[in-house]
Amino acid sequence: MSNDTDDTASEDASVLVVGGGPAGLSAALFAAKNGLETTVFDGDDTWMHKAHLFNYLGIGSVGGSEFMATARQQVDDFGTDRRQGDEVTAVGETADGFAVETDGGEYEGDYLVLATGANRDLAEELGCAFTEEGVVDVGVDMETSVDDAYATGAMVRPEEWQAAIAVGDGAAAALNILSKEQGEHYHDFDVPADAERLFGEELAE
Ligand SMILES: Cc1cc2nc3c(=O)[nH]c(=O)nc-3n(C[C@H](O)[C@H](O)[C@H](O)COP(=O)(O)OP(=O)(O)OC[C@H]3O[C@@H](n4cnc5c(N)ncnc54)[C@H](O)[C@@H]3O)c2cc1C
Repeated sequence: MSNDTDDTASEDASVLVVGGGPAGLSAALFAAKNGLETTVFDGDDTWMHKAHLFNYLGIGSVGGSEFMATARQQVDDFGTDRRQGDEVTAVGETADGFAVETDGGEYEGDYLVLATGANRDLAEELGCAFTEEGVVDVGVDMETSVDDAYATGAMVRPEEWQAAIAVGDGAAAALNILSKEQGEHYHDFDVPADAERLFGEELAE
């Protein structure tokens, strides 16, 4: 299944993403682009503000903060509700999903993507299983031991921390959510003609 805007996975399902670094924004991008109601909470302490990327495939050289500015614009363009500076203080399960608390209020969603960098406190609070190495235990789909809760980025690895890996984790989590919603494996495949449909003739060139 493609990501055609008239044929999205589900317009009703909602995704709460905690953390707006590369992992969280990648999950948000795939979720929002494919029709899921997506909210990102971010404290803006991403390590990317300290980094300069020379090792992100397809990008020769870019400052970490510049990379984040582009990523934020990209998720915003697809309709993500990005709550910058809204730190999550608590997470928990509800009867049919998850709730997160911030100083600004409480939010509920069907799926939860944790992307809080190397800080694993919220995963522990939620009751996610950890590995012997002390990181959140996930498979290749990034789902934790708590159904419909995902962990991505630095929190699932003891040390191999790279932006490209975090972005891949976020994409894997969102695609798994989209597959669950669709009831079959989901492919977010676009072809050149989609650029014009999404962005208009001038930007597509
Ligand atoms: C000095 C330095 C240089 C680096 N250089 C490179 C490099 O050259 N190439 C490379 O690939 N990687 C580099 N990295 C690593 C790269 O920055 C990380 O791999 C990447 O940022 C991890 O992404 P992430 O999304 O998992 O976590 P992060 O980028 O750390 O993002 C986590 C986000 O979650 C937010 N958050 C945490 N808790 C909460 C909460 N409770 N509520 C709301 N928001 C929350 C934080 O504010 C933060 O914005 C470097 C890192 C450092 C420190």
